[in-house]
Amino acid sequence: MCGVFGVYSRDRDVARLTYFGLFALQHRGQESAGIAVAESGHVTAVRDMGLVPQVFDEEKLAALPGEVAIGHTRYSTTGGVHWSNAQPLVHHGRARTVALAHNGNLVDPAAARDELLADGVRLASTSDTEVIAALVARDPAPVADAVARAMRCLEGAYSIVAIADGVLVAFRDPHGIRPLTLGRIGEDWVIASETCALDIVGADPVRDVRPGEVVWIDETGLHSATAVPERRSALCIFEQVYFARPDSRLGGTEVHAARVRMGERLAEEAPADADLVMSIPDSGTPAAIGFAKRSGIPYEEGLIKNRYIGRTFIQPDDELRRQGIRLKFNPLAELAGRRLVVVDDTIVRGNTTRALVQMLFGAGAAEVHVRISSPPIVSPCFYGIDMAEEDELAAAHRSNEEMREHIGATSLHHLSVDGMQSATRMPDGSVCRGCFTRTYPTRIPNAANLAKLRFEKTPA
Ligand code: 5GP
Ligand code: MG
Repeated sequence: MCGVFGVYSRDRDVARLTYFGLFALQHRGQESAGIAVAESGHVTAVRDMGLVPQVFDEEKLAALPGEVAIGHTRYSTTGGVHWSNAQPLVHHGRARTVALAHNGNLVDPAAARDELLADGVRLASTSDTEVIAALVARDPAPVADAVARAMRCLEGAYSIVAIADGVLVAFRDPHGIRPLTLGRIGEDWVIASETCALDIVGADPVRDVRPGEVVWIDETGLHSATAVPERRSALCIFEQVYFARPDSRLGGTEVHAARVRMGERLAEEAPADADLVMSIPDSGTPAAIGFAKRSGIPYEEGLIKNRYIGRTFIQPDDELRRQGIRLKFNPLAELAGRRLVVVDDTIVRGNTTRALVQMLFGAGAAEVHVRISSPPIVSPCFYGIDMAEEDELAAAHRSNEEMREHIGATSLHHLSVDGMQSATRMPDGSVCRGCFTRTYPTRIPNAANLAKLRFEKTPA
């Protein structure tokens, strides 16, 4: 998963705007951050491991002048935490230089990759992102045509911002799996993964980049073309459940409100007899509020979360490691003797949930009723959320009772697929919910390709 941002402006400080855009998209990726600018067509990029404020300071931003900028925050959970995977990446091709930032994951980049290699193109990495950049950089056609041609060779999820020929370009896969939205500051155009990044720079939301659309922004304004015909809409429902920031709007729905409705619906589907409703902060909080509202059981805080743990957090020594999740969460004394409804958004591997349940009993809780505001995750994501392999997913091969036992809770219930869908207020069949249903909007890689992807995949 990743966050992307882009801006074209002749009179604003585009690198600084991008910095703040990325700051609002930090939740989408905490491993590395980068900004590329172009001044009169000349591209400069700065990228490094760490959080946005760790990578950039005044001096670095001042060294990034230009009229167009793109930025990226990167997230991955498995391997590949290398500087060489930081984006935006810059690829010098026969026809042009392309700086590019990608959110998503291609399903099977191998064919396009082999074709590029056969054509003598040198690829520095095994990343699918470089394949996309190389396809555009090699093509002598005008940039929008080059992008359109590249899009016809790609399958999977991609929401992309790029700089080519001094122009800001953005394009999105024909299913629109990852979000990408357009905004305006005065006469200038801004592009971002989520509306919260438009809000932070004072941009007014205009519309989403349409699935299959390529837009390009130059000194004459915004231009658009349909590069590939729009397919069945398949916006990732996990964005609504967990990934997007609650103050963003996705497909016209405020994410926070959707999560509150998931909690309300959960209270209807799986009520509990308890003294208080609490959340696993922060991601479980909107649904816990909804659960409390609908059940009439008071909402209280039960766990205090340390919010300053980034991914570049200094690794604890063994003694501290035994404290495990206490680095992140500490329970309040008032839980003692009480029956808790504990609401979280998802169980992935189940390890955090099990440790938290244990911690709550350790704090003296009488009962711990775990309520999850999404259905059981039973299948991997092939589109850029690096959840886990199927075998690592706690719910993939367990019944609800086995899951309950696994996490050690008094009771456990998940929201139904229908309940989740109706809470988003998005039409049935307009989303991807493959991780919950095993039904995907595209071809998925076969076992052989998947094994290869394990090495080659660069989560966007
Ligand atoms: P588990 O019990 O599966 O180990 O962890 C569940 C917790 O992980 C939940 O609080 C949920 O909010 C969080 N979570 C869900 N999806 C992701 C993800 O993609 N990345 C990270 N870092 N946390 C996640
Ligand atoms: Mg969470």
